[in-house]
Amino acid sequence: MIFENTLAFAQQLDKQDILAHFRDKFYLPLHTNKPVIYLCGNSLGLQPKGAQAAVQKEFDDWAKLGVEGHFQAKNPWKFYHHFLTEKAAKVVGARSKEVVIMNNLTANLHLMMVSFYRPTATRYKIMMEVSAFPSDQYAMESQAKFHGYNPDDAIIELKPRDGEYTLRTEDIIAKIQDHRDDLAIVMMGGVNYYTGQAFDMAAITKAAHEVGAVAAFDLAHAAGNLHLQLHDWDVDFAVWCTYKYLNSGPGGTSGVFVHERHANKPELIRFAGWWGHNEEERFLMKKGFKPMEGAAGWQLSNAQIFPMAIHKASLEMFDEAGIENLRKKSEMLTGYLEFILNEINSVSEGQKSKYKIITPSVAKDRGCQLSIVVNENGKKLFDYLYENNVWPDWREPDVIRMSPVPMYNSFEDVFRIGEIIKQYYK
Ligand SMILES: *Cc1c(COP(=O)(O)O)cnc(C)c1O
Repeated sequence: MIFENTLAFAQQLDKQDILAHFRDKFYLPLHTNKPVIYLCGNSLGLQPKGAQAAVQKEFDDWAKLGVEGHFQAKNPWKFYHHFLTEKAAKVVGARSKEVVIMNNLTANLHLMMVSFYRPTATRYKIMMEVSAFPSDQYAMESQAKFHGYNPDDAIIELKPRDGEYTLRTEDIIAKIQDHRDDLAIVMMGGVNYYTGQAFDMAAITKAAHEVGAVAAFDLAHAAGNLHLQLHDWDVDFAVWCTYKYLNSGPGGTSGVFVHERHANKPELIRFAGWWGHNEEERFLMKKGFKPMEGAAGWQLSNAQIFPMAIHKASLEMFDEAGIENLRKKSEMLTGYLEFILNEINSVSEGQKSKYKIITPSVAKDRGCQLSIVVNENGKKLFDYLYENNVWPDWREPDVIRMSPVPMYNSFEDVFRIGEIIKQYYK
């Protein structure tokens, strides 16, 4: 598509957008009494207007029914996680059996590592991207220590080439092959939170499997953003939070994917709880853990109804919109933002550019997010945007992240961002 940096053009794209009506189903935060142009959906997604009613329903049932709500509530609490799996599975490209919604992201990452990081004397290394989200770094570091290894030895970090910001797939694969004898698991982001780079999960999984290692992904920045196909890519496990692109509220609940290949392996070591026990006899209160088939067999506790009620409401919107449609719009929306940023940044000979977009410029190598490094005083530009009702976010040491989200951002939003940046540089 050939883009134009005009209001009329942006409005025309909004008119043609089959998802445009979803914007009205969210609360846009107000700043100086005006709705902001929200670009932080990669950090905390906006509140769906239906979320309060969904939670209120559970409050009402709790008030009216007390403990009987486990069976008599409109959505009986005893089975609450069942109401989420099918739609969550669609979002990540999985079979229902492969997905469960539970706990929080980092907790789930540890639970999965317990089962899938089973180091041996020779094969014990963990590969991840350098400067991964800190929680993932700490989780991997503590997992290595838990098994008696020195993290500096056990953790292999994938680093971009000198002068580059992002990783090349060929370099990731070469590194996996270099470690064919000692690699236990590749555990990396699906989309890096800082650069916005989307990794080639299918290729990485294939390379990991070829050397006998496990392939796992933290999809915090990928779920609800990319068109994932975890089952077909043959990923071993994945985890994600639901409060970023999935709009399910601060702290929200989390998702877990375990490939069908591992569905019927009760012998897989795991940290167990009663909710992972065979559902038919869960309430017989018997000794001896028998895990449920599939991802459900990793559950620990009975469902957290309130955060799950929000997630349920949000997943219904994803189901209605369709992840393929969202991704299609997203590629255009982010492409449009890139076009406008580049136009403002274009310089005549001898002039210095204003900033650099470090996110890959090819759609398949990124999601919604563009990360820009500003040449002079990035924080000042960030503050200017914020004061002018454009809310990107700032990540130390020097990046402004902007994520136009297809569920609620418009092409006009993107056009207006450009106008405000132009004004800043005037
Ligand atoms: C957001 C994010 C987290 C946050 O972890 P929580 O357990 O939800 O607090 C962890 N890892 C990555 C990659 C993230 O992007």
